[in-house]
Formats: sequence, structure tokens, C-alpha cells
Amino acid sequence: MWYYKLSDYVKQKYGMKLYKLALDGGRTCPNRDGTCGERGCIFCSGRGSGEFAPKPELGIREQLIEAKQLIKKKLPKGETGYIAYFQAFTNTYGSVEELEPKFRTAIEDPEVRVLSIATRPDCIPEDILELLERLNQIKPVWVELGLQTIHPKTAAYIRRGYELSVYDSAIAKLKERNIEVITHVILGLPRETKEDMLETVRYVGHTGTQGIKLQLLHILRGTDLETEYRQGTITCLSLPAYIDILEVCIRCLPRNMVIHRLTGDGDKRLLLAPAWSKDKRLVLNTIEREFKKREVEQGSLWLE
Ligand code: SF4
Repeated sequence: MWYYKLSDYVKQKYGMKLYKLALDGGRTCPNRDGTCGERGCIFCSGRGSGEFAPKPELGIREQLIEAKQLIKKKLPKGETGYIAYFQAFTNTYGSVEELEPKFRTAIEDPEVRVLSIATRPDCIPEDILELLERLNQIKPVWVELGLQTIHPKTAAYIRRGYELSVYDSAIAKLKERNIEVITHVILGLPRETKEDMLETVRYVGHTGTQGIKLQLLHILRGTDLETEYRQGTITCLSLPAYIDILEVCIRCLPRNMVIHRLTGDGDKRLLLAPAWSKDKRLVLNTIEREFKKREVEQGSLWLE
């Protein structure tokens, strides 16, 4: 494939395929506990994007066992490696005393090769950076930052709750400590044009972040976006429009940037729109087929 897929990257770097185990570290987030707000980001589900993780009442060891059992049947025989992915809410939002034992429990598992931590750039103070640096000496640590957009108007509308400069500063501090960063961007945010989305992706491409997750905007039940969607004030991208945007976005990125995600996982029980995104396998196959077709027709899809 013409872009740098996560599966190719991990195979080259770790010599095997790695599977993600979604975990819930029992955190909350400043957008929900009253620090920045109480209603969360406009698109965020009640579990802070952690619908695929086991219940937080379970300890991390038990969550790892449960998450492995869920996917083990689908895995090929042989050596297995995992990415322990602290996905739900803001996983660096807490004290070192609270967080360190959870992260250490995850990396003590011999099958866990990478610790991946989803968080916000405004929740990585100095002592947490030091913790991440220490953990990174034991096993690779990836920090996933939810940026979504560079545009202040959209950031205010989605109630992101921090300025772009905070993201820039977090990237610089993580890079100083050799911690790999993955930036999350949402494509299809209300009232953003294709050029707006491209500007965000181009910006991310220049920050030195090593990976990017490109996610389709999902309208989930129970979010404020649902109300707007039902009122007819916002719409969703069609699959062909999404593929077109995706292609130009990837073409703007450095060729060595790892593409961690091409669409996103909306919990099917909560997903209201777009309906075409329900079958993730089908969507990914359609995207890949379309990219291959365009590659054949146009030669390289990269801009020279
Ligand atoms: S998307 Fe992240 S920052 Fe926003 S409300 Fe959900 S957990 Fe909090």
C-alpha cells in the first residue's frame, strides 16, 4: 500500500504483528469533572471513547486477561504481542501514585510490547512526563493526543478546552524525552471545509508527531451532537466524500508518518450516523480497494 500502515510499522519495528488490548484505567477528564467543563467534548460518549475496554471496576491484570480472551480466538498460532492501550477518558489525568501502578501492571505482562496512553496535551505535567520517560526505558511508550482540529472556531464548538499552543508544547516535551506521539484528528467536523481538514493534517505533519489517527466523525447517541443532528443543523460525510478527503490528507503527510487509523471505531450500539460506517471491515476494504484503483490509474498517489 502507498501509505505507511501501522501493521507494517509494528512488524518492522517489533518483528511481529501486535494486537491492541483496550483498557480502562478508571480515569475521568477535565472536560467532564468541572475543571474545563461538565458536558465533555460534543462528540464524546459517556465512557470517554472506552466502549471497547472491559469495565474499569476490574483491575488492569484482569482487564488484560479479559481483553486477550476476547481476541485470542481470532489470532493465528505462534508468538503473540500486544499493545496495552489505555483508551478511556484522559489517562494521564491523575497523580503519579495513582497512575504508575496501573501502567506498570500493564507492561509487566510479558506479552505486552507497547504501552499506549490516550490523553489530552493539557494533562501532561512535569512529574507525569518523568513517569512516562521512566516507563519508556522499560517498554516503548506511545502517547496519543486528541487534537481533532487546529481551527480555534471548531475547537471552541467541540469544547476541546485547550489552545493549539498547548498541543505544540506537549509534542515538544514528549519528543525531548523520546516518547512516540500519535495525534488524533477528526475528519468531517461540522462546518469544516475540506481545506480546513487539510490544514489540520498538514499542520500535524509538520509537528514531528510520529503517527496519526484519522477518524471519521461519528454521531453517537447521548451526545450533544445527536441533538444537532436530529434538528438537521449538521450533516455527515458520505463514504465517497470521506475517501476523497482521506486520500488528499494522507498525501499531505510525510511518507514516514505511520497511519494508525483510517476511520475509527464507533460503538455500534451508540452509532446514529453515518449509517455506512457501521460495518468497519467493509468500509476499510472499500477504502483500500479505492486507493489501489487510484494508484493504478495515477501511478504514485504521493505529491512530488
Ligand atoms: S473526548 Fe476526551 S477530552 Fe473530550 S470529553 Fe471525551 S474523554 Fe474528555
